[in-house]
Amino acid sequence: MKRIAVLTSGGDSPGMNAAVRAVVRKAIYNNIEVFGVYQGYQGLLDDNIHKLELGSVGDTIQRGGTFLYSARCPQFKDESVRQKGIENLHKHGIEGLVVVGGDGSYRGAQRISEETTDIKTIGIPGTIDNDINGTDFTIGFDTALNTIIDCVDKIRDTASSHARTFVVEVMGRDCGDLALWAGLSVGAETILVPEEHTDIKDVAEKIESGIKRGKKHSIVMVAEGCMSGHECAEQLTKYINVDARVSVLGHIQRGGSPSGVDRVLASRLGGYAVELLMQGQTGFGVGIQNNQLTATPFDEIFNNESHKFNTRIYDLAKELSI
Ligand code: ADP
Repeated sequence: MKRIAVLTSGGDSPGMNAAVRAVVRKAIYNNIEVFGVYQGYQGLLDDNIHKLELGSVGDTIQRGGTFLYSARCPQFKDESVRQKGIENLHKHGIEGLVVVGGDGSYRGAQRISEETTDIKTIGIPGTIDNDINGTDFTIGFDTALNTIIDCVDKIRDTASSHARTFVVEVMGRDCGDLALWAGLSVGAETILVPEEHTDIKDVAEKIESGIKRGKKHSIVMVAEGCMSGHECAEQLTKYINVDARVSVLGHIQRGGSPSGVDRVLASRLGGYAVELLMQGQTGFGVGIQNNQLTATPFDEIFNNESHKFNTRIYDLAKELSI
């Protein structure tokens, strides 16, 4: 393998730059040339493909977002459109492609490796949602978790000064991990996730009995995949007379400088992706499972539920918030 390319695709996440940096440096260290594809799959179609040098990734490890930019490119699902992207890779003599993104991005990579045998593809999980099979953690999850903790600690100051209930809505798409980990970390009274059914009446009763016990405030952590924060607050008022304030954290969760955990994860996964390409491997998503680097075939990532919701942590959070 003499030439590879790297792109970032789908929603951005903190640590994507650190992953790209690792791909670039690991490859150059091994005498492989690296090209950056700007704006995800859209850049493949537009031939927005440029050579990266060691210095191209200098001063990026600490930056959030992605300097390669990301873009949604729905037309890439169309085989005839994809051929144009594959032609552009061939034009540059690129034999391996590393895709940093979510499982939509992995599908694009899988299609490329199926449609041409001379371009190998490897996926790196980059999303704050922690919703990709084949890895315990995705790049960006830890940073987003810390952002949420920071925000909720501040919200708690107001909640306790005014003896209020706050409903905090966090991201995660259909995955409750951000809500669960953040909820446990901030000592939320209730955590609502899409993976577990919770009766809002029970939540209301818990808040009410807390108030009777002299509790000054409550935090209800809601995953966006479960319901919106506003819907949750509205439903609570059906059962109790509570002035619940809603805070939708929104895109603030996707930004910021990556945490140390995410920088290390991104560096390890970026380096490993290049190692796999050097071995001639293709069609794998890399990940970390039980602190070991792993490679899982794309098909398994799409078809199996290896990234399971951690019910032990969920049950513990419940036990600790009585
Ligand atoms: P994520 O990678 O975060 O899941 P998306 O689902 O938006 O984000 O996917 C990112 C991009 O990956 C899409 O804009 C599209 O270019 C490409 N993609 C998604 N699904 C497919 C598919 N089934 N086949 C080919 N390309 C796809």
